[in-house]
Amino acid sequence: MSTLCYIALGSNLNAPRAQLVSARKALSDVANTHVVAASGLYASRPMGPQDQPDYLNAVVAIETELEPLSLLDATQAIEQQHGRVRKKERWGPRTLDLDILLFGQQTLDLPRLCVPHYGLQEREFVVLPLAEIAPSLVLPNGVSVAQLANQIERNGLYRRETAQQWVS
Ligand code: ATP
Ligand code: MG
Ligand code: MG
Repeated sequence: MSTLCYIALGSNLNAPRAQLVSARKALSDVANTHVVAASGLYASRPMGPQDQPDYLNAVVAIETELEPLSLLDATQAIEQQHGRVRKKERWGPRTLDLDILLFGQQTLDLPRLCVPHYGLQEREFVVLPLAEIAPSLVLPNGVSVAQLANQIERNGLYRRETAQQWVS
């Protein structure tokens, strides 16, 4: 049985575009997993500490036969392969962040994994790319992604490239 999941990609270090291109490929190489859609690439302002470069963000949809924690193992391994270093500072600069936004319509509150991701509804750099690839998606709490996208402040966010331009 496969589950439709959405993953947020973010980078602001070490050639962010190349990081996202490589991360999408790595996701498509995960066992029993297929990338089925990708948003464009969005430029966004940093959240938290402001003394860091702007971010590049995207959201991809995958179909996976993995269990939730196995998917998290896979995304964390990909972060490590892309030189992710976890520091004490929250929301500091990073080569690659992969956050599992949604795992089907499941709601999980495990020590290592909360889905839907707790920041999904408040983050313009998540909501707008998600709305691009899943405009009719409704979250497990009944909130529609299209409605979130209509109401959220853009905070300088803009789409820098279409999906076709970065997905080969
Ligand atoms: P934020 O979660 O606010 O976006 P962050 O992405 O920088 O911040 P990380 O350092 O990437 O935070 O992750 C911290 C921990 O969050 C991870 O060790 C992971 O176990 C946990 N976590 C909980 N829910 C999720 C999720 N849905 N996707 C990814 N990681 C999650
Ligand atoms: Mg994050
Ligand atoms: Mg993360």
